Amino acid sequence: MIHPTPRLRFAPSPTGPLHLGGARTAMYNWALARALGGTFVLRIEDTDRARSTDESLQVILEGLSWLGIDWDEGPSFDAGDRSNGGGDFGPYFQMQRLDRYEQAAKKLLAAGHAYRCYCTPERMEAVRAEQKANKSSFLGYDGRCRDLTDVQRAEFEEQGLTSNVRFRMPEERVIKVNDLIRGDVEVNTKQLDDWVMVRAGGVPLYNFACVIDDVDMKITHVVRGEEHFLNGIKQNLVFEALGHECPQYAHIPLILNQKGGKLSKRDPGVKSTLEYRDLGYPPEAVFNYISLLGWGFSADRDVFTRDEMVAAFKIGGVGKSGAKFDVDKLHWMCGEYIRKWSTDDCLARSQQWLEAALPEGALAGHQGWLRNVVACYQERVTVLSEFPDKVQWLLADPELDEPALKAIKKRPDCKTWFAGFADLLETLPMAVSFPGDRGDADDAVRLPTLEDAPEPESSFATPAALERAARAWAEQQEIKFGHFVGPVRAALTGTNKGPGFFDVVFLLGKEACVRRLRKHAVQ
Ligand code: GLU
Repeated sequence: MIHPTPRLRFAPSPTGPLHLGGARTAMYNWALARALGGTFVLRIEDTDRARSTDESLQVILEGLSWLGIDWDEGPSFDAGDRSNGGGDFGPYFQMQRLDRYEQAAKKLLAAGHAYRCYCTPERMEAVRAEQKANKSSFLGYDGRCRDLTDVQRAEFEEQGLTSNVRFRMPEERVIKVNDLIRGDVEVNTKQLDDWVMVRAGGVPLYNFACVIDDVDMKITHVVRGEEHFLNGIKQNLVFEALGHECPQYAHIPLILNQKGGKLSKRDPGVKSTLEYRDLGYPPEAVFNYISLLGWGFSADRDVFTRDEMVAAFKIGGVGKSGAKFDVDKLHWMCGEYIRKWSTDDCLARSQQWLEAALPEGALAGHQGWLRNVVACYQERVTVLSEFPDKVQWLLADPELDEPALKAIKKRPDCKTWFAGFADLLETLPMAVSFPGDRGDADDAVRLPTLEDAPEPESSFATPAALERAARAWAEQQEIKFGHFVGPVRAALTGTNKGPGFFDVVFLLGKEACVRRLRKHAVQ
């Protein structure tokens, strides 16, 4: 009987990182469990002993946790090794369940659903080569050991041959499955060979171990990648042979590249989840974006919270065709999230990247300045690791790039403007400056920020007040403001891009502005 409460699982093999495709599979299982009020199990399929590592396990657990995909039963996250956390149906590591597989294999052998196969790897190689040479329509095991007599088996054993256990597939039977995404599908078993369930030595292979675990862990729904669809047919028959009902399957479509082709190794879609973390992608944006790879929230909304996703998620709403991984959309979404944060939240999340860009200790006592920088760039970054590059111009006097040199060349009078504007700035009581310009770290008084309301007319401590003074000065000098901004920005930032002109002056501070302007006034 199917367990009354929905129980879903994600069953990664710890043989590499958690790619976004795996994260999506985990998420859909998790979301369905949460939406149905069920249980989400994390099971570790570590029977590939040569390739399974604790390091990959850790990366998978960290990746899921970073995305906020929590599990009710499964490994203990804190232990960092193969220890089990909570749950009554463990252990949740396949290599700790070998006795269960042995029992089940014995049962299937005794009932004739499985048999011992003594074929050597060399023989299997030869069979494959022959099938290929004959352009055979059937590729796979040729069934030599399918009907061995007891005497023949004893002979092989006497020769010291070891045996795999193979599952006996019905020779020609149409299996009907109802997939929650693909609908009713029929597969004829004649295209599937007798597959190895347990290798000599007792380690089970995926299709077999997976079924024993799904039975023991009382799994009711299985959501996984469509590459497992045919495995589902094989597993279906193992459930039947063991006398258990099969869980409901939902095979989700592949993730494709932007052009609709297969993902290659260099595609952003194959990056590990933790690479996104380490590049400063907001996890809630990555979560939101991944959830849309094959599923839609609503016709007119793509940005939603985790809770909204769970409330709206229906497995039947996942499409049948491949989902295109669109890195531009992911970046757009990151920007959407970053802009929603409060400045303080953005500051807290960006601090590590900003600190990395500055000499050690440079920020001590300069949180106000840093907050201004963050407030200005919050609109302009898509991932937080862009901060160091974006703020470089503030930290050291830059060389002028081509567009900056052009902007200066275009206005032959600009060198006198630099000097005049520097004179003006020197007269202004500017409150903010770059930390490097201050001899001490004594700005305990909170500095004004870009978000603050305009200051009274007499104060020049905000970009708005600065703008009023600069415009008045330019008018008096009969300099067209539109002409003035380009070369002055070039002298201050070394380029022609970046934040608004007055934000530039404001963030750079009086000393650095005057120094850079005077330098270019004489060059
Ligand atoms: N260990 C398998 C994988 O990582 C699990 C497939 C399944 O969910 O049944 O692909």
